Amino acid sequence: MSERFYLAERIDGRSAVLQGEEARHLAAVMRARPGDRVVLFDGHGLEFTAEIAAIGKHSVALEIVERREIDRELAFELTLAVALPKGERQKWLVEKLTELGVTRLIPLSTERGVAQPTDAALDRLRRTVIEASKQCGRNRLLEVASPVTAKDLFAAPTRGTVRLVADSQGAALKSVVAPGVPCVATIGPEGGFAPGELQLAAERGWTAVSLGPRILRVETAAIGLAACLVLH
Ligand code: SAM
Repeated sequence: MSERFYLAERIDGRSAVLQGEEARHLAAVMRARPGDRVVLFDGHGLEFTAEIAAIGKHSVALEIVERREIDRELAFELTLAVALPKGERQKWLVEKLTELGVTRLIPLSTERGVAQPTDAALDRLRRTVIEASKQCGRNRLLEVASPVTAKDLFAAPTRGTVRLVADSQGAALKSVVAPGVPCVATIGPEGGFAPGELQLAAERGWTAVSLGPRILRVETAAIGLAACLVLH
């Protein structure tokens, strides 16, 4: 796949302008020249072949040569609600969930969890989604949603959705997964879900699933569970 560049505005005309980091990457890092062709995507499902028309100090103007509807999304909607780990592990998690095709990530606030990400931290994760999408060829972005509490999520009504809570005491995953329907899967914090959270989830019909006899770190559990659901 040729080098891909992301444009935050929807591309619907014959031209487009890259600015900021994407323009700098194309002009300064890739040393592109007028006449060179690149692939653009705007996160709405299309990708475009575009030819560089002009390179400015902080922007690159392009002419759209071809537009293609290329769907690299999952056949079902997959949401991961995760009590996020800290620092680089958080970024790594988001990169891998993007590659796996996860539709949405909800940062989960739990009784035993560490502090929730700030708006600035969420923006950094959204930037990670873009970088991973450029690399893996996704034309729609994984949505990084606003944080919710585990109790609110477990109590919310959801119809026609498989709802899973990762818990080492749960049933073997393969016995409960119905592939191809929307799914919300939750992963607890390093300290685990509190008993009251697990009880509420059970009362509201969430299915506890085990990922095996070893205790996995948050990001391993999230990626492992997502991979099982996606590659099933
Ligand atoms: N001390 C915690 C406990 O014993 O529950 C460990 C929590 S673990 C580091 C973080 C989260 O990953 C858990 O809350 C759970 O959602 C998920 N997890 C880790 N290992 C798992 C396993 N073997 N099966 C299912 N979920 C697991």
